[in-house]
Amino acid sequence: MSTEAKFGTNVAINGSRLWDSLMEMAKIGATPKGGVCRLALTDLDKQSRDLFVTWCRDAGCTITVDAIGNIFARRPGRNNALPPILMGSHLDSQPTGGKFDGVYGVLAGLEVVRTLNDLNYQTEAPIEVVAWTNEEGSRFAPAMVASGVFAGTFDLEYGLSRKDLDGKTMGEELARIGYAGDAPIRGRDLGAYFEAHIEQGPILEAEDKIIGVVTDCQGQRWYEVTFTGQEAHAGPTPMSRRRDALLGAARVVDAVNRIGLEHAPLACATVGLMQIHPNSRNVIPGRVFFTVDFRHPDDAVLAEMDAKLRNAVTRVAQEIGLETEFEQIWYYAPVKFDAGCVDAVRGAVAELGYSNRDMVSGAGHDACYLARVTPTSMIFIPCVDGISHNEIEHAHPEWCEAGCNVLLRAVVAKADAT
Ligand SMILES: [Zn+2]
Repeated sequence: MSTEAKFGTNVAINGSRLWDSLMEMAKIGATPKGGVCRLALTDLDKQSRDLFVTWCRDAGCTITVDAIGNIFARRPGRNNALPPILMGSHLDSQPTGGKFDGVYGVLAGLEVVRTLNDLNYQTEAPIEVVAWTNEEGSRFAPAMVASGVFAGTFDLEYGLSRKDLDGKTMGEELARIGYAGDAPIRGRDLGAYFEAHIEQGPILEAEDKIIGVVTDCQGQRWYEVTFTGQEAHAGPTPMSRRRDALLGAARVVDAVNRIGLEHAPLACATVGLMQIHPNSRNVIPGRVFFTVDFRHPDDAVLAEMDAKLRNAVTRVAQEIGLETEFEQIWYYAPVKFDAGCVDAVRGAVAELGYSNRDMVSGAGHDACYLARVTPTSMIFIPCVDGISHNEIEHAHPEWCEAGCNVLLRAVVAKADAT
């Protein structure tokens, strides 16, 4: 039975209540330019967690917190022996973050619970709203570490021992703010996981679509490269005798860009960080360190990009006479979201008549790890000009409302189907 049959097309979440909650939460860590700074496991993160827990308890949920600080707010179903349907995202932000990244998915989950309360509707399986710890990876690297621990990608010890720049560990900071819980991290069955999130890119808005049906999460390969040549005086050293490490880096930057273009439109290829030594205007650079970030939804293409990069680095080093250190520091396999969950999202979008398109997630999300342990998919809404990880990040209230309506129907369809 479709949710439409049970709900009718007029059943909807309360968009202004969702918006008010988003704006209330955005006061915690508010920045002068209208954004949010709520780094993981700071006092401000604790305040946002406390507010979320209070709201969930007010909505009749029971709260559990696991050993890496993930918060689960449970609304019982008719059959509580069934595995729960999860929905959520994260409450932490970048240092110059916005009011929607992450927090939207958590509060949309809460709004689904509040709406079901208003309707006095009990799903067959229980549902849970989850707030994952430290998704951003800004204060403690890497990103998505706690959903990674939950999914078994990292062990708990690894997660708890992540350090910030002051040497404080996630474990110490979880204990300090009172969110080192005792719920077991693994070992319970889940029915499904849905994550609503802003797109963080420009496509939906540019095509005037209100919902992204997310089918895949891009794979990623991250590299660190150091070229070593020879520092020399910029005046007396003839061009033919130079071993310029920055020239080598520049040629690789161009090669990286070409590799991205050769695999358009889905590939992304970026050099985002470079350190030049000695970085002096009249010294030929003797050593350059830089990073490469490759993304593509197809693992085979990602491997081709990898081979091309290795060739380019070797060729450039030979041309200029540079020594090379080259390391792939991170590999993250592409994720295909569960067909049943994607269908649940598609069905909800069709019932609601929203404009939509299929999308591949360009960013990493907690959902990409959850997909390893439970059927998972995501719902994207547009954000203005595609801007995110920025204080001016904005999503219009009607977009937030639409994504939450899709979440409601997808979650109920799944919870009643089990
Ligand atoms: Zn996010």
